[in-house]
Amino acid sequence: MALQPYDLFDVRSLLTEEERAVQDTVARFTDERVLPIIGDAFDQGRFPKELVGEIAELGLLGSSLPEQYGCAGLNAVSYGLICQELERGDSGIRSFVSVQSSLCMYPIYAYGSEEQRMRWLPDMAAGKVIGCFGLTEPHGGSDPANMKTVAKRDGDDWVINGSKMWITNGNLADIAIVWAQTEDGIQGFLVEKGMKGFAAQEIKHKMSLRASVTSSLFFDNVRVPDANRLPNVKGLKGPLGCLTQARYGITWGPIGAAIACLDETLKYTKERMLFGRSVAATQSAQIKMAEMARRITLAQLLVVQLGRLKDAGTMQPTQVSLAKWNNCRMAIDIARECRDLLGGAGITTEHSPIRHALNLESVITYEGTETVHQLVVGRELTGINAF
Ligand SMILES: Cc1cc2nc3c(=O)[nH]c(=O)nc-3n(C[C@H](O)[C@H](O)[C@H](O)COP(=O)(O)OP(=O)(O)OC[C@H]3O[C@@H](n4cnc5c(N)ncnc54)[C@H](O)[C@@H]3O)c2cc1C
Repeated sequence: MALQPYDLFDVRSLLTEEERAVQDTVARFTDERVLPIIGDAFDQGRFPKELVGEIAELGLLGSSLPEQYGCAGLNAVSYGLICQELERGDSGIRSFVSVQSSLCMYPIYAYGSEEQRMRWLPDMAAGKVIGCFGLTEPHGGSDPANMKTVAKRDGDDWVINGSKMWITNGNLADIAIVWAQTEDGIQGFLVEKGMKGFAAQEIKHKMSLRASVTSSLFFDNVRVPDANRLPNVKGLKGPLGCLTQARYGITWGPIGAAIACLDETLKYTKERMLFGRSVAATQSAQIKMAEMARRITLAQLLVVQLGRLKDAGTMQPTQVSLAKWNNCRMAIDIARECRDLLGGAGITTEHSPIRHALNLESVITYEGTETVHQLVVGRELTGINAF
């Protein structure tokens, strides 16, 4: 029996029937709704907002949260498969779902009051309310403890001053989860669109994640009621807890991007005739593509085990760091190599590798750069903090 080229170790046999059904549903959505439009959206620097309703209908927003909040209640492996299949389309679409689910709905669920959960989560699951997550500041995202945005208590309110940078969904968002220094340490606030003194400005001229909205956020004496403060967490562990959730999804996503690139390159090199034979018939092209399949296979096995650990409640942030580092590096290397194997045809968005390669420059940078994740693993091994 022939092996599946993008699943040489039959990783799919490790999935439950429900997990396979989730993967198939999202794969169909990507094939039918994302792939036909994404090259143009990337060219135009446009997030395809028209897909949000369908993404919500499929239950992909906050998919791991309980059904009582209008969510699908899926397990971690299913969430990973959602990320993988969406990123086979484009990292920008997966980023939208990651931010909404892991960085906005998750903190409301994990750190919010019951009133906050009931007020926001069902509408966010339905795609009626879009969120963004404001942690990074202009002076350095790798060191979030050096936070300059402040919230000062004033009667029943808080007054927020400062700014955030590189915020996905910033200009789309109806609410921003904003992390700010207080007298009691870092706390999270739900800042609503239209609150006086709150502004979002889209970052232009991006060469990466062009089908995603990225913004700066500004807070000039923004008055937020105490009811909008997330009451159940204080300190950096709040935002870091969200990042572990989102980074987990990102360990799966780039596998989709890598598969998309290899798929296109296999087809192209079989048809491209040079020196009287197809490029796919040359040893160097085969070695390159075999190397890609090897790295994809290792990444697939890594994330299934990571997902099982997450579902068992034993996943550690260091494991997420290792997988994010490995899988982003795997995918960006593959995307660049595929771009090369396509020759000149590889430089336009008619083929996906250059789009994925450019997108992965962001994916390998955000939610902790490659260096940051390497240092997390180094700290685990040595017990020495080298940051
Ligand atoms: C498209 C996009 C979307 C994003 N979306 C969001 C979002 O929704 N919300 C949000 O809060 N943030 C978001 N970010 C921000 C992202 O998380 C940061 O860009 C990232 O954490 C890196 O921070 P920085 O850009 O300030 O780089 P810096 O922290 O300034 O890093 C610069 C360089 O220094 C290296 N470095 C850092 N520390 C060390 C060290 N100790 N030793 C050696 N080298 C080191 C880094 O690896 C990097 O190469 C997004 C970024 C991008 C590009």
